[in-house]
Amino acid sequence: MFDALAERLESAWKTLRGQDKITETNIQEALREVRRALLEADVNLQVAKDFIETVRQRAIGAEVIAGVRPDQQFIKIVYDALVEIMGESYSPLAQADPSPTIILMAGLQGTGKTTAAAKLALHLRKENRRALLVATDVYRPAAIDQLVTLGKQIDVPVFELGTEANPVEIAQRGVAHAKALGVDTVIIDTAGRLQIDTEMMAELAAIKDAVQPHETLLVVDAMTGQEAANLTRAFHEQVGITGAILTKLDGDTRGGAALSVRQVSGQPIKFIGVGEKVEALQPFYPDRLASRILG
Ligand code: GDP
Repeated sequence: MFDALAERLESAWKTLRGQDKITETNIQEALREVRRALLEADVNLQVAKDFIETVRQRAIGAEVIAGVRPDQQFIKIVYDALVEIMGESYSPLAQADPSPTIILMAGLQGTGKTTAAAKLALHLRKENRRALLVATDVYRPAAIDQLVTLGKQIDVPVFELGTEANPVEIAQRGVAHAKALGVDTVIIDTAGRLQIDTEMMAELAAIKDAVQPHETLLVVDAMTGQEAANLTRAFHEQVGITGAILTKLDGDTRGGAALSVRQVSGQPIKFIGVGEKVEALQPFYPDRLASRILG
């Protein structure tokens, strides 16, 4: 998925081969190539600009290191900046003590939110944590059915009160039910909309207020590229997120969204979705992704 980006960056390094050291002049072309690479990968324009500026300043200020070629030095600067922008290392999920840990799932419709809720429950089970899934999307009966079906498939209980109940009340009763069941994690699936909408945000904020989750995870569809930045900003400003799950990274995506989420919200991507199957969830390791991007 990041092959095109890696290829582009290759031409950036080439512009520095054979040079004695990095200078303000010979870095220009390399930076232009990096910028082009980022924009082609559908990284948000402002995020790309900030990134280039950071790299430019560090590259120009870099000391010449004996035995290290300028292109290698430049690759290292870009690598470090990439890791920094995505978060230094894997950010595990919060674990509340006393339990249960409450995880609120947020995101637009169709991003893979419901699937991600189930994937997360399965992932937790592999860590010997037991989850309860809670269905609060009362606007789409199909969404409740989908969660119930997924729950059966992975053998995780699902709490729902149909489509007549109030989402805030469902969430609260879901948490109470989790305590009664003795599970250690509650994953609350919420209603999405096709685009950002005041009512959806207000409802999310109300659920958040009522249950005080330890994690509010924004589910971001990697296919949205540039838009991921605006979406993340809106959710973070209006609801407040603690992290994100970047889905559909297996698809024909250029991956740019991976660079935007933390840059605009300060919150890390915690997991990535790499397929439709319920097993297709992986913890997100920024350093591994940076290595892959740089080839
Ligand atoms: P929601 O409306 O946000 O709850 O989205 P759903 O969970 O219903 O997912 C929407 C569609 O995206 C479904 O067809 C899922 O199978 C698919 N989907 C979810 N996550 C992924 C993923 O990581 N990769 C791929 N390829 N498809 C996914």
